[in-house]
Amino acid sequence: MRDIDKTKEQLVNELEEMRQRCDELEASETERRQMEEQIRQQNEFLTHLLESLPHPFYVVDVSSYTIKMANSAAVFGTILKESTCYALTHGRSRPCSGREHACPLKEIKKTKRPVTTEHLHYDGQGNVTNIEVHGYPIFDERGNVSEMIAFSLDITERKQAEEALQESEERFRQFFANEPEYCYMVSPEGKLIDVNEAALKVIGYKKEELMSKSLEVVYAPESWPKAKRLFKQWKETGVVADEELVIITKDGDRRVVLLSATAVRNRNGEILHSVSVQKDITERKRAVEKLRESENKLNSIISSMDDLVFVFDKDARFTFYRSSTEELYMPPETFLGKKHSEVMPPRINKLTTEAFNKNKKGEVAEYEYWLEIGGQTKWFSAKLSPMFMDGEFVGSVAVVRDITERKRLEQLKDDFISLVSHELRSPLTVITGAVNTALTEGARLSPEETRQLLRDAALEAESLSHLLGNLLELSRFQADRLLLYAEEMSVKKLIQDTIVEIKRQSSAHQFIVDIPKKLPTVYADQLRLERILYNLLENAVKYSPQGGEIRVSVKSEEGYLVIRVSDQGIGISCAGQARLFEPFQRLEDSRLDGVKGAGLGLLVCRRLVEAHGGRIWVESELDRGSTFSFTMPLSHS
Ligand code: ADP
Repeated sequence: MRDIDKTKEQLVNELEEMRQRCDELEASETERRQMEEQIRQQNEFLTHLLESLPHPFYVVDVSSYTIKMANSAAVFGTILKESTCYALTHGRSRPCSGREHACPLKEIKKTKRPVTTEHLHYDGQGNVTNIEVHGYPIFDERGNVSEMIAFSLDITERKQAEEALQESEERFRQFFANEPEYCYMVSPEGKLIDVNEAALKVIGYKKEELMSKSLEVVYAPESWPKAKRLFKQWKETGVVADEELVIITKDGDRRVVLLSATAVRNRNGEILHSVSVQKDITERKRAVEKLRESENKLNSIISSMDDLVFVFDKDARFTFYRSSTEELYMPPETFLGKKHSEVMPPRINKLTTEAFNKNKKGEVAEYEYWLEIGGQTKWFSAKLSPMFMDGEFVGSVAVVRDITERKRLEQLKDDFISLVSHELRSPLTVITGAVNTALTEGARLSPEETRQLLRDAALEAESLSHLLGNLLELSRFQADRLLLYAEEMSVKKLIQDTIVEIKRQSSAHQFIVDIPKKLPTVYADQLRLERILYNLLENAVKYSPQGGEIRVSVKSEEGYLVIRVSDQGIGISCAGQARLFEPFQRLEDSRLDGVKGAGLGLLVCRRLVEAHGGRIWVESELDRGSTFSFTMPLSHS
């Protein structure tokens, strides 16, 4: 239809349609402009974003390796269009390859997935930086990878930290494995997660036997409660220090250890595991135990000795003393730590210094000294032995013995010897004199005078023989050869005969014998019984120089005969009575002047009475007289 043929209505409609289309075209042009503006803004935003990134960023063409786009961080301000990524980042002429320079592009083309690789970058000065390259694929409309977005991170610091960590882990691993003490790692649940060689060797388990086992397996049952308590403490505080425990080996042996443990934690402070170190102190404990034992032994030896023990250092300073008695010259606090010369009198110090000098030469030295203690003179013997350590003189040990009693006995013996010599010589002088006079003057002397001389000689010879008899009895006793020849006998005749014998020595005394008519017999050695009686009667005579009555009485009492010899003489003090029957006792009494005696008689009496199973005692009062009594067993008791 031609336009001319169209109706007016048709033309109006067409005009309307055209107007609508014009409006539509106009609207789409505005939309296009808006979109372009939007894209421009997005591009600008992206460019700003990329420029603001501190890390290098590129878009690389996957087939030519050329850089399509890069931010300033990648090219250091100069964008080199058409430059390849390998030329830009490594100055290489060929694409990256190998382990140090794995090419992310190749990987992306193969996998069509994002990829991360690490590269080493060298700068002109030879410094190395570790780079982590992140690559992301961009696909074309056919789904092939056309470009790669890549950005690089400098991970040198992270790498260095990782290496340092690895190194320190390695060091710890080496320490853990080679540490001679027993090392364990224990989880917070109390399970073993690692054990070092030293521990395995001692406890005898294989590592796999212990892994994930409870800690209980390594502790002796008696130590487990304490170990549990320490484990709790470790979980609360993260530390355990030097705690003594007993571990048990697979074979059941026990070893004493000192446990220290620390906690390894994560960043949040939560405990990951413990590092526990056990120091084996079994040998040390045994050594200490032995030392204590030997110290105890030594102490009991020292305390069982009557001796005093002193230890001096090399400067003669008192460092130790041990005494079983309280009786010391001075209280310990006044001499311990002081030099010998500071506390001892010069005369003793001189002796000690000499002994000390001998010690320094390795010689043992001995000396004796005396001290006034509690108003008494006490004698001591000291034996100083040197102590050397690694060949060097470090001091001396002095063993000091109280020898007062020995000294007293020595003195007594000396006195006794001179007494006995004197006692032997005086009768001999009388005998020799009498016999010589009788021989030389015989012609001039009357028969009565000669008889008197010979009687004197005989009497002295008798007393001499008696003295020698006493000496012999004592020496038999000392030699343990005092044999009795006991028999059943009556004492009446023996007493009468002995009195007759004694009477010859004195006419000034009156002898009274008080014996019941019916007297049981005794079981005794006749000669010994006679000696006892003789000694007592002789003393009764000697110690009642004013004369008086000497009474011998006998009575039977509880299976024994009690024989008493009483005099009215000088008597004996209480102190004198106490030591009367001891060896070599002559009482110092001015009233004894001129009374002969060797201090033997009573001792012999005691030995002989006791050998018969009897006892002897004295009752006396000064100036009133003494009564000596002894018992002899009855023959039928
Ligand atoms: P001695 O040979 O000195 O007589 P004894 O052992 O017989 O030795 O006596 C020891 C000491 O006992 C005497 O020295 C004397 O001091 C004292 N003594 C012994 N008997 C008597 C006595 N009957 N009366 C007083 N003193 C006595």
